Amino acid sequence: MTDQTLIILGASGDLTARLLLPGLGALLTAGHAPGLTLIGAAIDDWDDTRWRQRVRDSFGIENPVADSARWVRTDVTHTDDLRRLLDEAERHGPVVIFFALPPAVTAKACEALLDVELPPGTRLVLEKPFGTGSASAAEVNALLSRLVPEERVHRVDHFLGKSTVLNILGLRFANRIFEPVLDATHVESVEIVFDENLALEGRAGYYDRAGALADMIQSHLLQILALLTMEAPFTLAAAEFRDRKADVLRATRLWGDPATSTLRARYTAGDLDGRKLPDYTDEPGVDPARETETLAEIVLAVDTWRWAGVPFRLRSGKAIGASRKEAVITFKRPPRVPDGLRGCDQPDRLRIGFGPDHLAIDFNINGPGDPFELDAVTLEADFGQGDLPPYGEVLRGVFQDDPTLSVRADTAEQCWRIIEPVQQAWRSGRVPLLEYPAGTTGPGLTLS
Ligand code: NDP
Repeated sequence: MTDQTLIILGASGDLTARLLLPGLGALLTAGHAPGLTLIGAAIDDWDDTRWRQRVRDSFGIENPVADSARWVRTDVTHTDDLRRLLDEAERHGPVVIFFALPPAVTAKACEALLDVELPPGTRLVLEKPFGTGSASAAEVNALLSRLVPEERVHRVDHFLGKSTVLNILGLRFANRIFEPVLDATHVESVEIVFDENLALEGRAGYYDRAGALADMIQSHLLQILALLTMEAPFTLAAAEFRDRKADVLRATRLWGDPATSTLRARYTAGDLDGRKLPDYTDEPGVDPARETETLAEIVLAVDTWRWAGVPFRLRSGKAIGASRKEAVITFKRPPRVPDGLRGCDQPDRLRIGFGPDHLAIDFNINGPGDPFELDAVTLEADFGQGDLPPYGEVLRGVFQDDPTLSVRADTAEQCWRIIEPVQQAWRSGRVPLLEYPAGTTGPGLTLS
């Protein structure tokens, strides 16, 4: 890897400190991205010393990249400021610009960059949300396409850097035993669940405008759905891999009427792991009039030859008592269990855990004792952690100029298209906003 420069726009913010810099620190420790120059930029009147301290604190280790990091005070909406910033950066190889900015500021920064000559090979890295709907995503994408080619735009979905999520590829495409039964002939239903025991954790400014549907389902869970349902790419080259994902997302739609195939709810006061939580609406920074959901569940159909007729239930909730983060593939019952085999009618299931990383297969077997009496058993395997945290994995792709793990423009728009009927139904009040006490499992859909 050649020398390159990472410019973080919005470097004094939360994402930079909590996720981006720790991921970068892990990447550097693993020996990737040698020769990196790090430049932090924001409106704040920081200096090199303060920025270097932030970098060291977030890295959690000593690294020369922290010692040489530079701070360039920048209003990213001002073309002259951006020009000065890029002049500073260009002396140290190709440039990666990471927009760790509020989405509205990112759009303005892109407009301001139109009048700046970007160094050859510049890559742009964007954070979710990519727009607020398919139309606004298309607008941002059109703007980005005027700055750099699509292959140099990295839309980060850090779930695509999670080792278990990536292991779906190995599980499906490097084994003979799973892939042939992953279709509508054998699969009854699929659940992709991310119920967390975290609540708002002081992030009302962002979350109260997003909600569980946009924050989790529109982005991370649809990416998992794409990996679970895509056809095998011939190679993992970015174009092929992203084409296969785009194919299934284009074929994905809401299962039925939003009134019966979606659910929204928000938490009320409760006890979460020994913490007393207030009502969501009493959390600082929350505007109750927005009716933001902290739990969303939707059922989707994937209209491909392989998957048509199988319901995919996607769900994510905050302040849930029992955290549950997994994809569960439930298989149909055998056409017939011979008379005389007794005792167990649990369906077979393949469970892929996203935290802790885990794989389990539930099935029925002749148990000990009476050979005609069936028992349910589970075969389990730990995936083990990847070498890098998700942000480190994603950044590795950015520094290698490889967009395989980033979300392509058309895919970002498709993911909005899929949830737009849900948003419309919720806005119109057709689907009531339910409540659940923090610390409970929350409501769930029952599909007729
Ligand atoms: P913050 O509000 O914490 O930080 C935003 C940063 O942008 C600050 O450094 C701010 O500087 C800077 N900024 C704002 N306006 C300008 C400007 N005109 N010129 C230069 N700098 C400016 O936001 P987050 O870090 O939480 O989020 C950043 C992005 O990451 C958002 O798109 C968010 O959706 C996304 N994201 C965040 C996650 C998180 O956990 N925080 C998780 C996933 C995505 P100042 O403080 O001086 O205004």
